[in-house]
Amino acid sequence: MGSAAPAAPCVFCEIAAGRSPAYVVYEDANTLAFLDIFPFTRGHLLVVPKRHVDRLVDLPSTEHAGYLGALAQACRQVERLTKDYNIGLNQGRLAGQIVFHLHFHVIPRYDAGNPFGTLPRTRIGEADAAAVVRDLGGPIRR
Ligand code: AMP
Ligand code: ZN
Repeated sequence: MGSAAPAAPCVFCEIAAGRSPAYVVYEDANTLAFLDIFPFTRGHLLVVPKRHVDRLVDLPSTEHAGYLGALAQACRQVERLTKDYNIGLNQGRLAGQIVFHLHFHVIPRYDAGNPFGTLPRTRIGEADAAAVVRDLGGPIRR
């Protein structure tokens, strides 16, 4: 876990090292954006730091700005296709993370269908909200 190199070859490290192919749409010194090979929609991108980290909390804060800038750049490119898109980040198995190398999804939307499925949702209550904020260690104000 964390930022150590993974035991098994990591598919996104292999792409970042140029040993595996990818349909790259953006690259800078620290980041790559390329097409997801099983796209939800046309133009579905993955934005990937070249260094191996499992998840966002493992990315050094000195690299946050560059990574966010690369994500914004990938969004600009997606906006050539459509102004409607979702940005997603799956963290952990239960959240659907399959590749344990940090990546944002940018998923263009061309119609009103929900590609993420439909879980029923109910409005949160006052007490529940307070408890959840507390359990999240909040509110943090800086
Ligand atoms: P996640 O569920 O967030 O871990 O998503 C991993 C994503 O990586 C999936 O949407 C896969 O389709 C995609 N993927 C896996 N291998 C490759 C690859 N070699 N090139 C591009 N996308 C890939
Ligand atoms: Zn990796």
